[in-house]
Amino acid sequence: MSICFPISTNRVLITGGAGFIGSALIRKLLKDTSLTIFNLDKLGYASDQNSIYDLCRSSSIDIKKRYKLLKVDLRNKDKIRTAIQHSDPDFVFNLAAETHVDRSIEDPFSFFENNVYGTFNLIEACLEHWEKLPTERKAIFRVHHISTDEVYGSLKDKSMFSEKSPYNPRSPYAASKAASDHFVRAWNTTYGLPIIKTNCSNNYGPWQYPEKLIPLVIQKALNNQSIPLYGDGNNIRDWLYVDDHINGILIAAIKGKIGQTYCIGANQEKTNKEVVIAICNLIDEYKPTKFSRKNLITYVEDRSGHDKRYAIDSSKIKKELNWEPSYDFNTGLKKTVKWYLKNVEWCQNVQKKSKYFGERLGISRKLSP
Ligand code: NAD
Repeated sequence: MSICFPISTNRVLITGGAGFIGSALIRKLLKDTSLTIFNLDKLGYASDQNSIYDLCRSSSIDIKKRYKLLKVDLRNKDKIRTAIQHSDPDFVFNLAAETHVDRSIEDPFSFFENNVYGTFNLIEACLEHWEKLPTERKAIFRVHHISTDEVYGSLKDKSMFSEKSPYNPRSPYAASKAASDHFVRAWNTTYGLPIIKTNCSNNYGPWQYPEKLIPLVIQKALNNQSIPLYGDGNNIRDWLYVDDHINGILIAAIKGKIGQTYCIGANQEKTNKEVVIAICNLIDEYKPTKFSRKNLITYVEDRSGHDKRYAIDSSKIKKELNWEPSYDFNTGLKKTVKWYLKNVEWCQNVQKKSKYFGERLGISRKLSP
C-alpha cells in the first residue's frame, strides 16, 4: 500500500511506539515515507526497539535524522505537554496502553492510570497544540486513537461487532480502553479536536511480547513446557495479521473522516483450541520431535469473566476507504511461527529483561492504592 500523507506533513508522533503494533507502524513509516518519527513511550516491560534499530541497520534509513525516542510516561501531564511542544507533530497516533487482559485482572488501577488518565493527558496536550497551529497546519492535523473490539463485550450468537455496536466492556482492560475511547470522542464533539478512531480485533505477527496467546504458545511448545488452554478452549477470536492492521490504521488516518470510527478485522475467527493446535502442528513440521507438541496442551481454570467470542464486521472501512486484509490466518501464522523459530534469542532477551517467563497471570488481585 502506498502512503500519501498531505504534502505539508513533516512530523508524526506515535505513542506506544516501542510496543508490538506501534513499532510495526514506525517501521512502515520509516520505510515508506520521509517523515520524522517521534516515538513517545514510557518503555515498560513489553517495550523493545530492536525491530526499529534492525530495520535501520539493514537499510539506508538515517535513524539519527528520522527517528527520535521521547521516553515519557503519559501519566505525567507536564512532560506530555513539553513532548508535544518539542515534537510539534502534524499527526499523532495513540497506541500507548497497558494491553494484557490477565494483567488488568491483577492490577486494574494501573490500567485506569495508563489507559484512561494517560489518554486524557495526551488529548489535552494535543488540543492545546492544535489550537495554536497556523491555519494550514491546523487543517491537516489529526489524532488517531487505536482501540480494540474488546470494548464491545462478548458475542454469543453469529452476530458481529460494528461501529454501531453498543459499548459493553467486561474486563478491566476493556473498560479502560472504552473509557479512553469515550474521552477521545468527546474531545472531538465538544472541542473540535480532529480525531479518527479504529477498533480492531486480535493482532499477531513478529516482535510480539511473549505473554500474548500466539507467542506464548510458541515459546511453551519450543521449550517442551505444558501449554495452558483456558476453560474448554472454545473461546473465539478474530485474528488480524499486524501488517494488515497497520495498513488499516494508515488508510483511516489519511483518508478517513474526522470524528468517525472504523472497525478493522480480517474475518478469521478461530477458537483458542484451533489456534494452539495449529501452532503445535507447525512446530512439529518445522522442528520435528518424537512426540507431537499437542501432547503438551493442558486445560486450566478459565480466565475470570472470559469473553466468549469476538468478531468484527469491517465493511465500513472496506467500502468507504478501500481497505482489504492481505493475510489469511494460515499464511500469517506460518510466517509468525517461522519468525519466532529464527528469533529464539530475542524472546529469551525480552523475557530476561522483563523477568517474565510465561507463568500464569490474572489469578490474583492487587488492592488499588
Ligand atoms: P504493547 O503492550 O505491545 O505495547 C504498548 C506500548 O505502550 C508499550 O511499549 C508501553 O511501554 C507503552 N505504554 C503503556 N503505557 C504507557 C504510558 N502511560 N506512557 C507511555 N507509554 C506507555 O501493545 P500493542 O499490542 O502494541 O497494542 C497497541 C495498541 O493497540 C493498544 O492501545 C491496544 O489497546 C491496541 N490494540 C491491540 C490489539 C492486540 O491484539 N495487540 C488489538 C486491538 C487493539
